[in-house]
Amino acid sequence: MTTIPTRTLHELADGVYVWLQPGGESGVSNAGVIVDDDGITVVDTLMVRSQWEPFVHAVERLDRPVRRLVLTHAHIDHVGGSRAFANAMVLGSPQTSALLDGEMPVAAYKAFMPAFDDEFDDLAEIGTRPVTHLVTDAAQLTPRVELLPANGHTEGDVMVLVADVDVLFAGDLCFFGVTPLAFQGDPATWADVLDAVGELAETIVPGHGPVGGAAETKLLQQYLRHCVAIARGDEGAIPPGPWDTWPERDPRDAINIERAALLANGRDEMPNAMLRAMGFA
Ligand SMILES: [Zn+2]
Repeated sequence: MTTIPTRTLHELADGVYVWLQPGGESGVSNAGVIVDDDGITVVDTLMVRSQWEPFVHAVERLDRPVRRLVLTHAHIDHVGGSRAFANAMVLGSPQTSALLDGEMPVAAYKAFMPAFDDEFDDLAEIGTRPVTHLVTDAAQLTPRVELLPANGHTEGDVMVLVADVDVLFAGDLCFFGVTPLAFQGDPATWADVLDAVGELAETIVPGHGPVGGAAETKLLQQYLRHCVAIARGDEGAIPPGPWDTWPERDPRDAINIERAALLANGRDEMPNAMLRAMGFA
């Protein structure tokens, strides 16, 4: 697979663009653009101004109206630039809508993502846009854009399929080459969902990391299954594997395993390992 340049609007297929950010660690996500006859659908908006401003300017240079903004989920590294698309309808799951209507936990963001410490006050001041249109079922949004609700990374994930060019924007249901984070998800469900995700399109744009496909989705599934097996006491540790090079294994292994263990015991709670990472414990 050819290397796709980062921090630029790269045309992946006819009228379908990706804006990738290198690294893919906490706060460093990807976004997308799909062009229909009536205008543009944007998928996610990155996090802080230094990230979303160049993306927004590149979208403006396409010189088409931005009609729709799809938020794959409510995590701040996907919704931080939403105010920049002031005239677009905003589509998201009911869970995304509820989280965006709540207060922004700025102190937790600063503790969890210290690299962006000095930009979070700006983000808090601007705020995010509320969801204007709820996505509760699979829906053909435009002639090119299909919305597919799912869960696993969160309880309200939305994927965007552009079937005519065989491209899926998976949001954070896919992390490629980066350790996934399931603090609000369900690692067991997530791993199961990935069978279907990997078959939806030839080309998969993950929420974090480089563009991939079924093979990368399979690796993510294997990693999550190890986390679930450890939580159940069936395995002792994550064995050596391709994930050895993934950034942020610490603290994410501990968070993912603890979350799987909590859910296995019927406790839908924030893992202590995540609370510690956010400076709460
Ligand atoms: Zn996320």
